[in-house]
Amino acid sequence: MRKISKIAVLTSGGDAPGMNPCIRAVVRTGIYHNLQVVGIRQGYQGLIDNNMYDMTTRSVSNILNLGGTILKTARCIPFKSDEGMEIAYKHLKEHGIDGLVVIGGDGTFTGALRFSRKFPDISVIGVPGTIDNDLYGSTYTLGFDTATNTVIEAIDKIRDTADAHDRLFFIEVMGRDSGAIALRAGISCGAEAILLPERATAIDNLIENLKAGQFNKKSSSIVIVAEGDKTGGAYELAEAVRNEIKFYDVKVTILGHLQRGGSPSAFDRILGSRLGYAAVNALIKGETQKMVGLEANHIKLTGLEEALNQHQFKLEEDLMEMSEILSI
Ligand code: ATP
Repeated sequence: MRKISKIAVLTSGGDAPGMNPCIRAVVRTGIYHNLQVVGIRQGYQGLIDNNMYDMTTRSVSNILNLGGTILKTARCIPFKSDEGMEIAYKHLKEHGIDGLVVIGGDGTFTGALRFSRKFPDISVIGVPGTIDNDLYGSTYTLGFDTATNTVIEAIDKIRDTADAHDRLFFIEVMGRDSGAIALRAGISCGAEAILLPERATAIDNLIENLKAGQFNKKSSSIVIVAEGDKTGGAYELAEAVRNEIKFYDVKVTILGHLQRGGSPSAFDRILGSRLGYAAVNALIKGETQKMVGLEANHIKLTGLEEALNQHQFKLEEDLMEMSEILSI
């Protein structure tokens, strides 16, 4: 079995609440096992720029409650080229690093798998860190719970004003390819309709539902639109129904980047801690090209290739059906 003595950790792609608890767990688990731990700044860009520093247990003090990532993150185009990967490898070797923990989404894992196949002497473990909850091999990804709670808090406030003025709100939430946040937030806030990239939106049905709501004396209606909905964003949908829904004043809110920020929830702090701890233990056991995830409340390792091949979020039809029945 390959012996690991020095590991590095980076965060890559979109930031997600819970990344900091995960970094903390990687650093402290590594040090507990007498490994040296290096932090890489700005994701793969930091590997190319040789932007890394030695971490101690104190480097990660008081970060459990912080959103974002103390290591910063980036989208790094040069890492996609062979030359970029070679520079990254050279820097890792110069520092004597033989294990790498990458925290990010499917793009991050694609890069990690390519890199690890090219340079198999560096072991790589992935941690699913993305608010989109769209990775195979983990029921939940880091940041999804916090982002969903942030969305719920915002929609509850919008519901107050919608109700006071008899308004229909189209609220756009994050999720280019995944309706995970929209679905959970929709159930939690009693949305009258939830529009997702995974399901075609029939405008006629939407109008009928909204009319039925008004007939049933609803004083407001909320339609949650995942940004990847195929009929267009919240503004387009609002225009499409405006002339048919005269009884409501139609408004649009795009929640935008506030969904990424904020202190991680208890769930994401614990998930980040568990996954970071498990990632280092996996490296010590000689694992590589794997993702650590949580399935049925147990840590599970999934090959990065398998996680990527099956990555898309599967729409939970039962939850959709329930939400439609409960929002009449
Ligand atoms: P999120 O789900 O939050 O968007 P992500 O990890 O999918 O996170 P991406 O921007 O898709 O975010 O990918 C992060 C980084 O991974 C890219 O900026 C790039 O450096 C690296 N990466 C993505 N695809 C590849 C690839 N095919 N080869 C090498 N590196 C890649």
